[in-house]
Amino acid sequence: MTSNHIETQAIRTQIERTDFLEHSNPLYLTSSFVFEDAEDMRASFAEEKQRNIYSRFTNPNTSEFVSKICKMEGAEDGYAFATGMSAVFSTFAALLNSGDHIVSSRSIFGSTNSLFTKFLPKWNIETSYFKVDEVDKIASLIQPNTKVLYAESPTNPAVDILDLELLGNIAKKHNLIFIVDNCFATPYLQNPIQFGADLVIHSATKLIDGQGRVLGGVTVGRADLIREIYLFSRNTGPALSPFNAWILSKSLETLVVRVERHCENALKVAEFLETHPQVQLVKYPFLPSHPQYETAKKQMKLGGNVVSFEIKGGVDAGRKFLNSIKLCSLSANLGDTRTIVTHPASTTHSKLSVEDRLETSITDGLIRVSVGLENVQDIIADLQQALTNER
Ligand SMILES: *Cc1c(COP(=O)(O)O)cnc(C)c1O
Repeated sequence: MTSNHIETQAIRTQIERTDFLEHSNPLYLTSSFVFEDAEDMRASFAEEKQRNIYSRFTNPNTSEFVSKICKMEGAEDGYAFATGMSAVFSTFAALLNSGDHIVSSRSIFGSTNSLFTKFLPKWNIETSYFKVDEVDKIASLIQPNTKVLYAESPTNPAVDILDLELLGNIAKKHNLIFIVDNCFATPYLQNPIQFGADLVIHSATKLIDGQGRVLGGVTVGRADLIREIYLFSRNTGPALSPFNAWILSKSLETLVVRVERHCENALKVAEFLETHPQVQLVKYPFLPSHPQYETAKKQMKLGGNVVSFEIKGGVDAGRKFLNSIKLCSLSANLGDTRTIVTHPASTTHSKLSVEDRLETSITDGLIRVSVGLENVQDIIADLQQALTNER
């Protein structure tokens, strides 16, 4: 029996049972698979049969994880990677040629930005950027050699929203491959393929694992593009380990209930912050005060688990706030059961010039909160005491 309900898809998509008739899926820690005979081996390598050969190509655990994400995102096919960044890199490396050009949102994950500015230029691939409030300029950035339109929404760490339908229409009109990093939204809150995305990338390290245990990544979307990505990856080796795939496939079974609570807590945290005198500005997609609230409501089921706010007093106030935190963690991860606070201007984005930081909406007093699953009253109490003690 198949279902279109995402909870059922996440739980009931399973690889075939073995003869032991296990209920929960076993872990297939094997590097390779055996063949019946010479003909079986020949036909398998000729891809006349769909079967597992070697775990760098496919493995039952990674296949199960990929097929769940495909169903949840409405994608034709996919490939799972060791990390989110190997998904991003392998997707671009597989699809682009020397001389190609990318048009990308300015507000993208730090390592993706490094890939575009430091590494892809080594292969003569250049990127032009638009700011989140400059989508009307995208058409003017497109060149004859532009191949990809790239975006993330909600953005990290400022939690801005880009209109995916609008971007999808631009990509279609100019015949570009539209790629969306959907990490902050998860396959539950937002499905970019509905709005015209050709490929969707996730860092499974974040809310998909949701418990801060393993790294993983996945790219899903158009079968013809995934075929290129698969062939590249099968030969270059960024595959997700079966162990991590097993963890991540189990994690997906609880994604919907976890994310719903994350979002409920995040909205309460955002509402609390809006009332605090030390806080200048709060950004959360489902707060009516968010500049792209209407777009967020159109394309997302709930607002996600990340809230950002501007503390009065700039860099010093931000550092003091972090030093006063007691319950929440200071950590580089996000999307964990444990609430995590970061101050991008003095940490992750401290190497950028003030101008470059402002281009991506990272002001000196910006604090990012990845709201976890602790009791929300405890999360709010910790933020409150840190805001009061920070002077
Ligand atoms: C974390 C993250 C990545 C990279 O994922 P890793 O699993 O850490 O390699 C990519 N994009 C976004 C939006 C992220 O938050």
